[in-house]
Amino acid sequence: MSFVVGLTGGIGSGKTTVSHLFAELGAAIVDTDVIAHELTSKHGAAMPAIQSAFGSAVLQEDGSLDRAAMRRLCFSDPAERRRLEAVLHPLIRAESVARCRRADHAPYVMLVVPLLVESSAYRRQVDRVLVVDCDEAQQIARVMARSALDEADVRSVMATQADRAERLAAADDVLPNAGGRGELQMAVLSLHRRYLDLAERRAGVTRS
Ligand code: ADP
Repeated sequence: MSFVVGLTGGIGSGKTTVSHLFAELGAAIVDTDVIAHELTSKHGAAMPAIQSAFGSAVLQEDGSLDRAAMRRLCFSDPAERRRLEAVLHPLIRAESVARCRRADHAPYVMLVVPLLVESSAYRRQVDRVLVVDCDEAQQIARVMARSALDEADVRSVMATQADRAERLAAADDVLPNAGGRGELQMAVLSLHRRYLDLAERRAGVTRS
């Protein structure tokens, strides 16, 4: 089994950006948001269960999930959100485990999980927790710049996530993302070297 680093952080903290930088350096990336997207796309493995749980009102014409309709439903009713999670989470987790196993060609795996700190199952799945960190104002500004969400929308997502202090308390490593991309790249390179070293040592222990 590969050495697995769990990458997490609040919405807009920079997880996707950071995962791309690690990928450029040779890490294998398993992103649970990407898996969730695939599961809920046209012919996605979760769609039959979603249709039977929620009906056709949350489906697009091509059979993929109507994300805007689902988001509205989940934010207006927490019970609906739990129902969706009960369908999706086990599928996402099973797929993430399978992809981490298949990634043994890479020196280590970066498993991107927005709610890693909140999930004991994912915490058991990873060898180390890396938290991308920036302050709340930056999270909100970045998400608003990249999407149609307004500040209240972003805050309502943030309210469903662990707060900054809880995430930092769970971190083995912290990657500050308050500055520019150049700074971020340097910090990623330094962590990459550390993970190569840790993965190599773990492989040595497993071999001996
Ligand atoms: P997350 O995956 O955690 O939600 P993203 O990686 O998508 O966050 O980053 C949110 C937005 O902020 C994106 O549009 C991204 O391009 C931008 N961004 C992230 N980090 C930086 C940075 N250091 N400098 C400038 N823009 C950034």
